[in-house]
Amino acid sequence: MHAAKLAQDLREELNYHNHRYHILDDPEISDSQYDALMGRLQEIEAANPEFITPDSPTQRVGAEPLSSFREANHLVPLLSLGNTFDDNGFLAWYQRVNILLEEASFEMVCELKFDGLAVALTYEDGVFVRGATRGNGTVGEDVTLNLRTIRSIPLSLPKHAPKRLEVRGEVIFPKSKFEAFNTERISQGLTAYANPRNTAAGSVRQLDPKITASRPLDIYIYGLGYAEDIDLTTHWEAMEFLNELGFKVNRNMLLAQSPQDVLDYYRKWVTLWEQLDYGCDGTVIKINRFDYQRHLGVMGREPRWAIAYKFPATQATTRLREIRINVGRTGRINPYAVLDPVDVNGVTVRQATLHNEDNIKTKDLRIGDWVVVERAGEVIPQVITSIAAKRDGTETEFAIPKICPTCNHEIVRAQDEVAHFCPNAACPAQLIRLLEHFVSRSAMDIEGLGISQSTSLLNAGHIKDVADLYNLTAKDIVSIDRFGEKSVANLLAAIDASKSRPFSRLLVALGIPLVGVEVADLIARHFPSFETLIAAEEKDLVGIPGVGPKIAGTIISYFSSESNRKVVEKLSAARVAISVDQKQNLTPTALTGLRFVVTGRLANFSRSDIVETIKELGGTVSASVSRKTDYLITGEDPGSKLTEAETLGVTIISETEFTAMIDQNSATPLT
Ligand SMILES: [Zn+2]
Repeated sequence: MHAAKLAQDLREELNYHNHRYHILDDPEISDSQYDALMGRLQEIEAANPEFITPDSPTQRVGAEPLSSFREANHLVPLLSLGNTFDDNGFLAWYQRVNILLEEASFEMVCELKFDGLAVALTYEDGVFVRGATRGNGTVGEDVTLNLRTIRSIPLSLPKHAPKRLEVRGEVIFPKSKFEAFNTERISQGLTAYANPRNTAAGSVRQLDPKITASRPLDIYIYGLGYAEDIDLTTHWEAMEFLNELGFKVNRNMLLAQSPQDVLDYYRKWVTLWEQLDYGCDGTVIKINRFDYQRHLGVMGREPRWAIAYKFPATQATTRLREIRINVGRTGRINPYAVLDPVDVNGVTVRQATLHNEDNIKTKDLRIGDWVVVERAGEVIPQVITSIAAKRDGTETEFAIPKICPTCNHEIVRAQDEVAHFCPNAACPAQLIRLLEHFVSRSAMDIEGLGISQSTSLLNAGHIKDVADLYNLTAKDIVSIDRFGEKSVANLLAAIDASKSRPFSRLLVALGIPLVGVEVADLIARHFPSFETLIAAEEKDLVGIPGVGPKIAGTIISYFSSESNRKVVEKLSAARVAISVDQKQNLTPTALTGLRFVVTGRLANFSRSDIVETIKELGGTVSASVSRKTDYLITGEDPGSKLTEAETLGVTIISETEFTAMIDQNSATPLT
């Protein structure tokens, strides 16, 4: 077959499967089959660049970053909607329409009001040519390249599509992905987004389309801007037509015959909307017939033929009683508000995140203030603003404390950082958070170790760093009264199973600043082991596409810390996340099979350090000297073991001789 024809067939096939997957949610082929088709198209296009069309699925990503957005004039303005917050407001609107239309009854379409970013999509000859933000309604921003990366926006339409077509919709960020997305951002040292709506808007307004492409954006089409040469008489009909053309239209629509239908629709969704995976802030009621819409017209910037009936506010007013802080796993100090409990649309809110000191200063939040709090879906409640007019002078300003409340170490704020940090790597608060992160699903995925269990193991001294997880014994865990016998076995099994996670997951688990899931994947592809990664220099790391000097810097600084190196050594000794190839390449160390006894005070090792070191290098350590002992390591003030060793003819070595012995054996990858 001719390559041009083949490319066209592949494009059509890919667009078809894309539609099944992203719009109908009913794929016919597996992801790998899809990727294979895509691979073939890419090959053909690489060999014949003249076959690349703007609607080719290969063109969704890959555009170069822009320096700014161009303006986009809307042919038909994007209007804003009038609002009501109660039944009376809606009924008053209905009465007005009734009088203006001089009709006893008329159909209305009820829809959900999506809380995202409004956009207009233009198609010419069935090809997506322009996407623009709403802007001021007349002029928006041209975000075509970014919108092209959203899989539920068709790049081309079937043959019977109008020659020129503009549709309106709302880009949304799924609520289910929001929490994890923000966690990842924070782990990369970026600021968190306040809510899914801001995230959707922020993602579309990226100058680099690759960033937009990396976000799980979706769209719902809710209106027709204009369509050339096509006879549509109602909004309902138009939505069915758009659905048929391949646009993603929300199913939760209702064709209402009476005001009561509208109120019933509202009652239903006011209790259900929070369970949806996209943000909504109300319902929209539109007059169905287009000729009625034209007759009613526009008043100012608002059409008379539509109204938004908003859901009850997700904001409430309460007192900010206290500002407390907790210490995150990277030592980041997170301030949060302790509030007088307040009901926000059915949920009691007692705390709200405050992000950082600058946020508190910008919003001018003082302890004792009346504040507006907002809760949206699953998102952590936020303090929106203080109400300065309600102050009586007893309010006090807040500053991040000078010392860490957990470890008393001085708190610092690095240049160019909004956050404060407790720089003490041994801070117990950080270790708890790090453990929480280490066992989390995106990291080592160890089930059965919650915060309270971690805290107990830490307090009992069984865990001093994350690597100690791999040395936990059933006895250690049983001593913590939060565990039953079965859960002990389950936890140990889960810990053991986690050893076979890929190296990239272990990198994520370590909690290195800026190294989240994506960055860890990139790095592990080039440096698949601690050995290779630690040997890497800044220029090697920066050589990886997607890794900049900032990330390289945090990696190098992480591995240059002695305590971190210790953790890495312990993890390696426990054979955590070592790939099959690496396991085969590991050289047995010369301490393998050797039995040691230690006596006296050592200069450079604590007792547990030397025991660990010997074990890491393959040796064993006994408490007492016997004929089987190979070496007695002696420090200052040796005890009776020295005499016993002399009597039994055991080789006696000093700490220095021991150090020399292990230095010779730098066959081990980590020393
Ligand atoms: Zn601390």
